[in-house]
Amino acid sequence: MESVGTRELVVLLLLFLAVFFGVAILIFMLVAIRRRQGGARTVGAPICSFCFKPGGQVKKLIAGPSAFICNECVIICNEIVTNDRRAGSIVDFP
Ligand SMILES: [Zn+2]
Repeated sequence: MESVGTRELVVLLLLFLAVFFGVAILIFMLVAIRRRQGGARTVGAPICSFCFKPGGQVKKLIAGPSAFICNECVIICNEIVTNDRRAGSIVDFP
């Protein structure tokens, strides 16, 4: 009798854990999707999709189809591309 009760308890616990982690993963995915779309869908003031600085804290905020990028992140990206070009990993085509 007692072993059946313990087994039911374990099954219930496993069921609870499965539902709990299922819901947690679902919430995590929804938050991740919202963060990705956060740049373009501006509920409040627009923010840079890369560094998350608001438009008021940077000189320029450039809007793309689904994201924003600020002038500071453009400079960082330019440095990365320039360094890659110098290293030879990017080949310029005419
Ligand atoms: Zn930025």
